[in-house]
Amino acid sequence: MEEIITALATAWGESGIAVVRLSGEGSVLLADKIFTGRKNLAEQPARFLTLGRLRSSDGELFDEVLAVRFDKGASYTAEESVEIHCHGGLLPAQKCMEELCSMGARLAQPGEFTRRAFVNGRIDLPQAEAVLGVIRAESDEALYASSRTMQGAFAQKLRSFLDAITGLAAFLEVDLDFPEEDEGYISKENSAKRLENLISDGEAMLEVCRSGLILREGIKTAIIGRPNVGKSSLLNALLREERAIVTPVPGTTRDRIEEIFTHKGIPIRIIDTAGIRETIDEVECIGVSQSLKSMTEADLRVWVIDAGDELNEEDMELGRRVSSMKHIVVLNKSDMPQKISIDQLKNSFPSSRIISVSALKSDGIEELKDIIVNEITGGMKVTGGYGVTSRQMECLSAALASLKDTKKVLSEGLGDDLAITCISDARSNLATLLGIDATENLLDTIFSQFCVGK
Ligand code: GDP
Repeated sequence: MEEIITALATAWGESGIAVVRLSGEGSVLLADKIFTGRKNLAEQPARFLTLGRLRSSDGELFDEVLAVRFDKGASYTAEESVEIHCHGGLLPAQKCMEELCSMGARLAQPGEFTRRAFVNGRIDLPQAEAVLGVIRAESDEALYASSRTMQGAFAQKLRSFLDAITGLAAFLEVDLDFPEEDEGYISKENSAKRLENLISDGEAMLEVCRSGLILREGIKTAIIGRPNVGKSSLLNALLREERAIVTPVPGTTRDRIEEIFTHKGIPIRIIDTAGIRETIDEVECIGVSQSLKSMTEADLRVWVIDAGDELNEEDMELGRRVSSMKHIVVLNKSDMPQKISIDQLKNSFPSSRIISVSALKSDGIEELKDIIVNEITGGMKVTGGYGVTSRQMECLSAALASLKDTKKVLSEGLGDDLAITCISDARSNLATLLGIDATENLLDTIFSQFCVGK
């Protein structure tokens, strides 16, 4: 039997109410040991809020609360559960949990309630992961996308996809077992056609997920450039608030600042790196620096140049570094007398997207936001998709790659055995995505990202 777990479901700190959760068989009897109402919780109908008091083991009443019980099979975890709505603030909820733990409950691990909902079969793994997407959504679009996944629509599509692949795999296996049989089974042309359809279904799903991933993770954008070109000012202009410390002394912005704003529904996580001048020297000596790390890890780099200053060797070095990565060149300080022109930059960096802005006057900032979004989405519509994680994307991409391998093996006549191996790889990747026979390790990794109490 699963242990009874308890946790604070609301955030720690002063608040109107603090909700303590309790889940596992025997939760109601356990809660009744500290809860005193007109009736015991066990005698109340399920899902019915009851007023009562909490009593400590030494007999003192310490809070007035509302409590509700849920029947097994009809709760968040699908287990018998209780929620106790204490007064906000730390002590009442903490005391409540201490009392419950002293009587046999234990504190829940991060994500353990959702993990139980999955293990008990109430939700599948993509739905469980979508719960975190909903909690962490940074824009309306991101929230809608994760919510669609949480409702189960994505998993349903995946399951039909998996069923179709399994159906085709079965035919291929029959062909392998009875190669002399020509009738009653699907022809080679037919299986090629079905495989083709599956590949295009998979590609369509991947496309929808790609936009869901952007919505969930946001576009990681690093603002880079040598000191004093206006990186912090640009960050401020993008955020329209004074968050970074702007200073006219070169190299004084030491900290890495990360902020999030949304543009056209897409979260953009923007990182202002420390002046990159000294870091280039450091890289030559030591190897790693925070700025260059952010620069390489980002989805997109916004390389800022001061239009009022000549390009120097540091700029050119940075230009060479970013050239091989996805980037936008921002010629800042367009309000000043120009020492560098866009045409001149185009000659030096012909394949770069270049835009002239003034961070100080907020000129060109909206256009820059459009370009940031466009560089990553390629103009693709991001609404209407499913919120997915990078893990799910990897599984889906791997499944699709295996289907393409199957097609290649069949069309080049490389052997039915190999085709069957490839198609089983596609199936097992989808099964991993759906959490079918998920390993404890995988579940640990997924649920440890959750907060305690969810
Ligand atoms: P960082 O070191 O690259 O982060 O540069 P800062 O944002 O601290 O800016 C350095 C100096 O350039 C400050 O004095 C800013 O006011 C000034 N600056 C930044 N952007 C502009 C701009 O668009 N026009 C003008 N005229 N000055 C700017």
